[in-house]
Amino acid sequence: MVATRPLLGAPLAAEIMAEVRTRVGRGRKAGRPAPCLVSLYRQIPGSPFAFYARQQEKAAREAGIEFRAEIIPPTMDRQNLAARLRDLERAEDVHGVLMEHPLPAELDFDGATAELGVAKDTDGVGLSNIGRLALQRPVQIPAVALAAVKTLRHYGIPIAGARVAVVGRSPTVGLPLALLFASKGEWGNATVTLVHSQSPDLRRTLSDQSIIVPCVGKPGLLDRSIVPEGSVVIDVGLSSVPDPTRPSGHRAAGDADMASLEGWASALTPVPGGVGPVTVAQLMANVVHGWELLAPGKGV
Ligand code: NAP
Repeated sequence: MVATRPLLGAPLAAEIMAEVRTRVGRGRKAGRPAPCLVSLYRQIPGSPFAFYARQQEKAAREAGIEFRAEIIPPTMDRQNLAARLRDLERAEDVHGVLMEHPLPAELDFDGATAELGVAKDTDGVGLSNIGRLALQRPVQIPAVALAAVKTLRHYGIPIAGARVAVVGRSPTVGLPLALLFASKGEWGNATVTLVHSQSPDLRRTLSDQSIIVPCVGKPGLLDRSIVPEGSVVIDVGLSSVPDPTRPSGHRAAGDADMASLEGWASALTPVPGGVGPVTVAQLMANVVHGWELLAPGKGV
């Protein structure tokens, strides 16, 4: 029986936010206008998009970043959406753009984000940013991927040389995370196994892994019957599950079964309170990174 170390996100999120405020202050002193983030999302009953936008707005306000939310109306088609992103790319008073996903296939998420330059693609999910990450010349790196690796570093858990399994291969979460862990840079040099829905025998695949990063969206997928004893679990999964004891009737849950892994995993990020707050802070850091790259005389 091991004592499971809780890897809380709040201290690291506070550190990242403090650095963001310093960088915004420095740029403002140099006469630059405040960074501005535009967040686009669809208003779908029961979806978390509006909640995420409120979290972003709160963090942006704390960081000195101007925030604008834009609803993608149900009538918007792929041409209109692409045209809107083209406008935002041209707007000199906008420094970052986020678009919640998944989007319906007919709105063509990849085609729309391709309208953004690498600096304004705040979450680094466009074709150019993912390609650059793959080629080890990153500009914007998806915030959730950076949040996962920064959590490990914050808590002194070595990545280089570790056997890391990323469970989930979506182009916006699992794949960039695997690329980051496998990269030669400061965040990587791990030996990476990328697991997905077609991988046979999850338990056997994970049996010799020292760090496991589920990015699936299936609450309770990983319990002690699948996770090797003593491994570190960085739980990226985030789902809403029914909970009649809560006034809202639901609660946030990760992919890890926290009760089962307590006393089994050597360290675990809780959900809520683990990777999530770090991701929001990292999004603000990405906005400021884009703002710095867009400063006159700079350029990517
Ligand atoms: P997604 O597009 O649905 O991708 C899920 C991935 O999981 C797919 O690659 C899928 O495999 C794989 N998968 C499904 N069932 C599996 C199984 N039984 N075993 C192994 N792999 C399986 O989801 P996403 O957008 O990547 O998001 C993943 C999770 O991360 C969600 O819970 C999301 O809410 C969360 N998230 C959290 C944060 C945060 O700040 N904490 C930020 C972003 C996302 P296939 O490719 O074969 O279909």
